[in-house]
Amino acid sequence: MKETIKANNNILELIGDTPLIKLNRITESLKGNFYAKVEAFNPGHSSKDRIALYILEQAEKKGILKPGDTIVETTSGNTGFSIAMVSIVKGYKCILAVSSKSSKDKIDMLRTMGAEVHVCPAHVPADDARSYYEVAKRIHLETPGSVYINQYFNELNIDAHYHTTGPEIWNQTSGQITHLVACSGTGGTISGIGRFLKEQNPNIQILGIDAYGSVLQKYHQTREFDKNEIYPYRIEGLGKNLIPTATDFDTIDSFTKVTDESSALTAREIAKTEGLFVGYTSGAAMQGVKQLAEDETFDENSNVVILFPDHGSRYMSKIYSDEWMEQQGFMDENSEVSVAVNYI
Ligand code: PMP
Repeated sequence: MKETIKANNNILELIGDTPLIKLNRITESLKGNFYAKVEAFNPGHSSKDRIALYILEQAEKKGILKPGDTIVETTSGNTGFSIAMVSIVKGYKCILAVSSKSSKDKIDMLRTMGAEVHVCPAHVPADDARSYYEVAKRIHLETPGSVYINQYFNELNIDAHYHTTGPEIWNQTSGQITHLVACSGTGGTISGIGRFLKEQNPNIQILGIDAYGSVLQKYHQTREFDKNEIYPYRIEGLGKNLIPTATDFDTIDSFTKVTDESSALTAREIAKTEGLFVGYTSGAAMQGVKQLAEDETFDENSNVVILFPDHGSRYMSKIYSDEWMEQQGFMDENSEVSVAVNYI
């Protein structure tokens, strides 16, 4: 009898079941045990593979999507890449409205994956006709047979993580997780994982990371939208200038704000200390952990899971470019030396 060929049927079968990796050196001075859920191990190199697959398959099950239909979405890059990847395998056309804040690498990658990309100005109000929300809406209305994913306002974004990432973390920690730390953009990741974990054990703390320049933390505290909180910042995929319904604010215990600079430096530190090459928001999440540790959020018995959303290769022209770091005023010769001296 012939031996069976051990192959996956397509790339989509590799989505999910990402590893949980213990952090050893970057957390040396902190109380507790720290584990990274490394979403870069998804085939599209980010957590967004999960929502692309889940949402499109739900639409197929409901008969909303037929072969040859068009998928429309707004995206900071990762969701677009994932939707483009899933669309290719499943035979859909993909049109994406992208913020001009997204790196050139990301935009080139989307085009490589067959997507039609519309680049829209980042620093205009969400209801401006030029914003990527409004552009996506218009394309959807003008394109017959199109489906608008609308990740910021789609409950299925939460469900994708409730059904996949949440149970994975619960099983990988054998139910011993005490804190989850995750960035919030659409809020789907933290809300879906948080809902699942709190159903298993309501004492688990769900800690969100937000950006300076975003409304999320203030909204969580006051339930009021304060437009004075909004100003430009550099981190892509973290924080928001509107209140997404894909964020379940009741599931989240608190938000911690992090700066562009500290997040970028911490991302570089993760690579140097753990050998993990992850994205800008992974640096933001880790930076948030450091700040929470300073506030004595954790003790020796804490088992903290930190979600690292994507891979470092997407940020070569930004946080992993010394030139870019110097231009932002984030790095000078001394900061490079201090990292090198600390970790040789
Ligand atoms: N990190 C990156 C790099 C992202 O692209 C996103 C999504 N915008 C997030 C974090 C936040 O994830 P979520 O949208 O599920 O809150």
